[in-house]
Amino acid sequence: MGKTETQAIAANFASLRIDGARLWQSLMDLAKIGATPKGGVRRLALTDLDREGRDRVVEWCRDAGLAVRIDGVGNVFARRAGTDPERRAVVAGSHVDTQPSGGRFDGAFGVLAALEVVRTLNDHAVVTAAPIEVAIWTNEEGTRFTPVMMGSGAWAGIYTVEHIHAQRDAEGKSVGDELARIGYRGDAPVGRASGAPAFDAYFEAHIEQGPVLEAKKLPIGVVSGALGQKWFDVVIDGMDAHAGPTPMELRRDAALAAARVIEAVNCIALDEAPHGRGTVGSVQVKPNSRNVIPGFAQVSVDFRHPNMAGLVRMETALAAACDDIAERGRVKVDVRPLVDFAPCVFDATCVGLVRDAAQRLGFPHMDIVSGAGHDAVHVATVAPTAMIFVPCKDGISHNEIEDALPEHIAAGVNVLLHAMLARAL
Ligand SMILES: [Zn+2]
Repeated sequence: MGKTETQAIAANFASLRIDGARLWQSLMDLAKIGATPKGGVRRLALTDLDREGRDRVVEWCRDAGLAVRIDGVGNVFARRAGTDPERRAVVAGSHVDTQPSGGRFDGAFGVLAALEVVRTLNDHAVVTAAPIEVAIWTNEEGTRFTPVMMGSGAWAGIYTVEHIHAQRDAEGKSVGDELARIGYRGDAPVGRASGAPAFDAYFEAHIEQGPVLEAKKLPIGVVSGALGQKWFDVVIDGMDAHAGPTPMELRRDAALAAARVIEAVNCIALDEAPHGRGTVGSVQVKPNSRNVIPGFAQVSVDFRHPNMAGLVRMETALAAACDDIAERGRVKVDVRPLVDFAPCVFDATCVGLVRDAAQRLGFPHMDIVSGAGHDAVHVATVAPTAMIFVPCKDGISHNEIEDALPEHIAAGVNVLLHAMLARAL
């Protein structure tokens, strides 16, 4: 079908809108599974509650007439058939697992957004050439099992199925066994066949998890990509000594060196404003005793940046700062690389479909770069991908008080509907 013809058909659906009340009700119903007293959700990956959440969404998908398949790492794909057998699916989704004290929207929104698109197409008997699919990715949060974004990573071929099945939680239970136990170790193959993109396109709607859209009073963020990440452990060896008799100039104080590393990480990120991020989120000091100069310290470093050159600059600056800190403090400072995610740039065509949809629907919007990782970042390595952000209250997420406005949620799904339709007709 030619482009003008597709545009003409799309114009027929210009007035199509999702049912915001139904979507909100589904979000609130799913949030009851694992609900916490403070209004959040605790539904850790591959627990009984995760099974209950998955079962509920799968039931809704079947009610909507979708054909459900489950792959070997528990990713769920629910398909609404298209008319053209040659066309690959236009897919939307996210995850239904949560943080230990998570909220009602992180992940669940993207999955139920995709389901609401399907329900809307059903209501209006819209026929698409390409199939439409709802995706639920396994263990996005990485709380109970590492790595984070596990299911989408395996699907994209970044991890092998065997590697994923062998991962264990703190109690020694494996992903493979837990998938089987909850009934989600499926037999559909994991990932794409024979190197071809498995999806025609992938769209993920998500709360922003940051404060920018709310501050700018914009309902829609057109996500152009995600910050790259480099994580390190900085391990500092000094010398334990008595706090009283040891003169200041003779100390080899690992905690003091750790403090200097924290300061350096902050300065390095500020030098990369506005998109550079540098965080020390974890500090350990040994022996951690009031009257002992600590001989050992370890700090975590999390650097993020939208381009690789910036990330490399941050890494180089950290190494130089640590050399300097080692010399000043007469301690040994070892920088150990842990995680390396390249910056992600989403598909320009798919991003354009999101922007056009927001424009046509009259929603104020801005382009935005995701500071957090998402399943979409893995999917983007093998299929054309884009994301849609909506604001969340005070920018807060990974917290039981995570909240969002029904009108913003609905706006995000209307944009999703029209972006998917433009691709699938
Ligand atoms: Zn999420």
